[in-house]
Amino acid sequence: MSILDKCNSFTDARKAMALGYYPYFREISSEQDTEVICNGKTMLMMGSNSYLGLTTHPKVKEAGIQAMQKYGSGCAGSRFLNGTLDIHLELERELAALVGKEAALAYPTGYQANVGCISAIVNKNEYIITDKYDHASIIDGCKLSDGTMLRYNHNDMTSLERTLQKIEGKSALIVVDGIFSMEGDIADLPAISALAERYGANLMVDEAHSLGVLGKNGAGAAAHFGLTSKTDFIMGTFSKSLASVGGFIAADEPLIHYLKHKSRALIFSASLPPASTASVLAALQIMKDEPERIARLWEITHYMMKEFKAMGYDTGSSCTPVIPLHVGDMMTAFHMWAQLGEEGVFINPVIPPAVPPNGCLIRCSFMATHTNEQLDMALDKFRTIGKKLGVI
Ligand code: PMP
Repeated sequence: MSILDKCNSFTDARKAMALGYYPYFREISSEQDTEVICNGKTMLMMGSNSYLGLTTHPKVKEAGIQAMQKYGSGCAGSRFLNGTLDIHLELERELAALVGKEAALAYPTGYQANVGCISAIVNKNEYIITDKYDHASIIDGCKLSDGTMLRYNHNDMTSLERTLQKIEGKSALIVVDGIFSMEGDIADLPAISALAERYGANLMVDEAHSLGVLGKNGAGAAAHFGLTSKTDFIMGTFSKSLASVGGFIAADEPLIHYLKHKSRALIFSASLPPASTASVLAALQIMKDEPERIARLWEITHYMMKEFKAMGYDTGSSCTPVIPLHVGDMMTAFHMWAQLGEEGVFINPVIPPAVPPNGCLIRCSFMATHTNEQLDMALDKFRTIGKKLGVI
């Protein structure tokens, strides 16, 4: 037996490729905009996380170019030793101000922000409590920590309370997505925060999909519910509304000070490149200056939700710009993905193990810059193909 046997005998993806149902690593040769060129063909992008449509904004691009000119292409080291730029510190001040915390710390990716924060905070004989639908980076953070992970049923407060009762008196960190990345529903933060308080647990909210979407000025889910001060750690990414790459943790200053000296994913990894950092700063400024973008995103969300429901699609518990269409089994999801693709609509199929065997999704996500014509054109295709496949 070789350790590599599992690689050589891994055939699932190759079988899907041979059947023409392989939806991954699609080659995009254009900007991430409402239309993209994918495998040489122009497609309507209905599966991007660029919720505010800022990746193509001239000011975001110009800021990146200017930073590249001034600071070069990379920092050649970690924040801890040789890679802290003035613009990293400026970005951290802006992020802290946006979400309403004393301090913030920028990580090279959102994934690392979750992994780096959770693994530094939760030690031996301590607990991490997660929602079953939390993002993989939260789970990986738990795995890297010396603590014990407990999971409760998705957004089920009875299940969360039962979990808290099991470990009453022990130190615990509850970690939840603000907006769940596949389901598009919002964590019940008022109830979660009340339970955290009652059982003496701390709370961390992953705002990857809620920054730029929920809350005043796009400050996220904790802000939306007025629970900023009750949320110990606010985590966010730059790879969605903020049009770049990277992530951050915002919290009270002593917590950030601790992470700066204990978070291995920060200390042992190179810092965010200058161009990415400057692009996020520009995106934050635009988010502040152009609140109409968030308003438009919600107008589109309400319109698409209403139209999908009127057609007969099951959109589950979504109430945000992430709208999953529940289509049932895997073959239906693949047929739908393939036929929508042929008709020039880019969406993401979600299949097991990410969801239960008959719980496959077509995950749609919308951008503030989609035009009404683009939305209606896509809706026509969703209607025709959904009917053909018997989904609606
Ligand atoms: N948290 C959630 C909820 C996410 O959806 C993602 C990315 N899909 C991440 C964290 C990781 O962020 P990034 O891709 O910016 O590393």
